[in-house]
Amino acid sequence: MGDATLIGCRAVTPGGILDDAAIEIADGQIVAIEARTGREIGTMRDLGGLTVLPGFIDLHIHGAGGADTHAGEIAALAAFLPRCGVTAFLPTLAADAEARTVAALRAVGAASAAGGARRGATILGAHLEGPFLNPARAGAIPPEHLHPAEPARLARLLDAAPGAVRLMTVAPDAPGALELIPALVAAGVVVSLGHTAVDYDLFRRAIDAGARHTTHLFNAMTGIGHRAPGAAGAALTDERITVELIADGEHIHPAILALAVRAKGIAGVALVSDAVGPAGLPPGEYAWLGRRVRSDGATVRLPDGTLAGSLGTLDRALQTMIAPLPRGAGLSLADAAITLATVPARILGLASKGTLAPGYDADLAAVDDRGVVRLTIVGGEVVYGVLAGG
Ligand SMILES: [Zn+2]
Repeated sequence: MGDATLIGCRAVTPGGILDDAAIEIADGQIVAIEARTGREIGTMRDLGGLTVLPGFIDLHIHGAGGADTHAGEIAALAAFLPRCGVTAFLPTLAADAEARTVAALRAVGAASAAGGARRGATILGAHLEGPFLNPARAGAIPPEHLHPAEPARLARLLDAAPGAVRLMTVAPDAPGALELIPALVAAGVVVSLGHTAVDYDLFRRAIDAGARHTTHLFNAMTGIGHRAPGAAGAALTDERITVELIADGEHIHPAILALAVRAKGIAGVALVSDAVGPAGLPPGEYAWLGRRVRSDGATVRLPDGTLAGSLGTLDRALQTMIAPLPRGAGLSLADAAITLATVPARILGLASKGTLAPGYDADLAAVDDRGVVRLTIVGGEVVYGVLAGG
């Protein structure tokens, strides 16, 4: 796109929504965002009334558009995601045969290194969902690939592609997990708790050990009872830890999405898709992690009915969150932007992403009045949609 000023748009900024904004972009960064004065100079690009949000950052995604992270199809996923408003993501690898995970981690490392040469969402590194999980809360992850938390096994995974693993889901009740969490933190990995049957107290001990995030809150963990707050109750009430919500409207009832946001506070919530390869494809039978799954257009399930990831890419999460109760969570657009971009960026320590403000990367998602993504820009370049004018 080159240096330009976006006009004819609403901008969702940390200071509020600017109804008639001018967003100045130079060298792939946002230089200024102001109310339009009509005195702007340089190349103008009129967005025709779209609403501009910070580009969405997905910390938990296994695939979409037929691309599968476990098969190493990382670049294909990066190319697909901009149509969902996603500008950066963590390819997520559920526990699998170790040789396949190692190969997929190498694919993530290679695809991140080649990132600049390619049009698509930025690959931020990998999210390892396992293998140190509780088999009793495996969900759709094949339990035969789950293991006690052994330092040697962890070292083999981290060494497969040095620096590639940015986030790891660990169950505090996997044998050895509490001892391994400090080593993960020391290696620069954000530890996320999930796929666990622990109670409130043991969940808190894992936070004491250094865990800072919660994998798909409510799903595959102990829920809230009024005398037994469980893992979910611990995650929602401990300010040291953030939570993920799968906002496809299927994994969690919209009223509970709204409740979780109110309990946790907007700055503690990151929306994730947990999407799998069939997301964005027609309903039908597909394979996932060596298992047969069926997509009905709303959900993906194993033959026994267990949810196997979601079809809810982050554009759909946005629509769910801003729809009024009981169809959605009733969030404002400004709050939705925080959960889709600002919080995920902060969790990974990305100082230049996740916010629509001067000095940040020009990673933008522009949506129409129905919340449908029409235009996506990564590093100042249009990667989805068509930009009129010039
Ligand atoms: Zn997952």
